Amino acid sequence: MRINERVLQLNDKPINENARYVLYWMQMYKRVDNNHALIYAIRRANELRLPLVVYEGLKYYYPWGSDRIHTFILEGVEEKRREFEQLGIRYVFYLQKDADAPKSTVAALAKDAALIVTDDYPCFIIPEHNRRIAERAEIPVYAVDSNGIIPMSKFEKEEYAAYTIRPKINKLLDRYLKPLPNETVEISSAGIERDCPDTLVTSENIASLVAGCDIDHNVPASTRYKGGTTEGRRRLTKFVAEILPDYDKARSKPDRDGSSRLSSYLHFGYLSPLEVALAVQKADAPQVSIDAYLEELIVRRELSFNMTRHNPHYDSLAALPQWVQKTMREHARDERQFNYSLEQLEAGETHDELWNAAQREMVATGEMHNYVRMLWGKNVIAWSPSYEVAFETLVHLNNKYCLDGRDPNSYAGILWCFGKHDRAWFERPVFGLIRYMASQSTGKKFDSKKYIAWAQSL
Ligand SMILES: Cc1cc2nc3c(=O)[nH]c(=O)nc-3n(C[C@H](O)[C@H](O)[C@H](O)COP(=O)(O)OP(=O)(O)OC[C@H]3O[C@@H](n4cnc5c(N)ncnc54)[C@H](O)[C@@H]3O)c2cc1C
Repeated sequence: MRINERVLQLNDKPINENARYVLYWMQMYKRVDNNHALIYAIRRANELRLPLVVYEGLKYYYPWGSDRIHTFILEGVEEKRREFEQLGIRYVFYLQKDADAPKSTVAALAKDAALIVTDDYPCFIIPEHNRRIAERAEIPVYAVDSNGIIPMSKFEKEEYAAYTIRPKINKLLDRYLKPLPNETVEISSAGIERDCPDTLVTSENIASLVAGCDIDHNVPASTRYKGGTTEGRRRLTKFVAEILPDYDKARSKPDRDGSSRLSSYLHFGYLSPLEVALAVQKADAPQVSIDAYLEELIVRRELSFNMTRHNPHYDSLAALPQWVQKTMREHARDERQFNYSLEQLEAGETHDELWNAAQREMVATGEMHNYVRMLWGKNVIAWSPSYEVAFETLVHLNNKYCLDGRDPNSYAGILWCFGKHDRAWFERPVFGLIRYMASQSTGKKFDSKKYIAWAQSL
């Protein structure tokens, strides 16, 4: 049931009249500021004259769980604990290390809660989490959308491409591109004791906590990107002051530090797109760069959220339009000049130095530059035995190594390589009418030698 443009009630259960608090289960918006879900939870707590408890959990068995992802999440915990303490809100963080550790923490916390507020994120494991908690809890569960600038509910069906969603966004933007008012709790929950596990995380014990978890230890923590809102804001400040003025040109140059590199902070919700957009909007930079950036951050990003919200097949080739399905059928049997295994691709062992460099950047740093990311995806299509294998390989590598993976942008970006949100081009082998990109010509558009040397040095 829709409560308002950002809030959905997921079940039809009565409020617990004997509750001790309202519970906010923070899953994707790992921040204190500009968080519509937290604001909604504070309002409901104040309305019910109850304190608010915030719960965040990190389990060991989510897909692609690794040292890299765990470390990035744990790096944001200490600052949140401090910030919530100042706000009079009890913050519980629980790291579930392995199969022997206590389970069902949200359900246990829910027993003393009046209602649950959580994040309405449209992909990966979150929709299933929300479905299960709504079924299991005996109290109302509300999912709140703080994903983008415009609420997802403003677009009632799947948009075909950027050109169909852009005019709709432009019409609504003035209304939503405004600072959010802060809300404060009227009753502190600081002293509330809960009989539930609460993991103490400090910058000193993160490595040993991660080492003790039953996750993939072969993907190490990123030495380039550190988790947390403070780190995200540090990069945002640098980006706005030094990089944004030249963004419209430099963003397509992987050999330069020319884009925001904020996608991982946006993915984990350390930064809200609203905070980023407002900082960029008022920056001292040419309008052409500001507009180019807001096009990516708002139009492209919200198109991805729109796709995962409305297309139940977003994690497969079935999400592609009819013209792509037809051209893939016609070219399914075309001979592939190269055919690399997942292991060869993962190790960056192809004949193509530029592709190997992009793969290296991703494996070593936890991110891949946007420009080579397109080329990276296109080449996996060319070098795989089928479109299905190419898609699975791309999703696996992207989500395993990229900090910003497992995001609506991951699925939309990969599907874009297959023609999603794009138009038909000229017919050619393997790709059919899907747009093709060649390393040779792409590599001429920037200093690819410099980029390759840099990636090899990582
Ligand atoms: C094969 C492939 C896989 C991709 N996988 C991911 C992924 O896992 N996670 C992810 O966030 N993005 C993904 N993208 C989109 C894009 O490459 C990244 O968002 C971008 O590289 C992030 O770098 P940045 O923050 O410096 O971007 P900037 O150029 O600074 O852009 C600002 C923000 O706008 C958004 N954005 C930028 N480009 C796009 C785009 N093409 N589509 C949607 N939103 C965009 C991002 O949130 C980004 O942080 C993928 C693209 C392709 C082609």
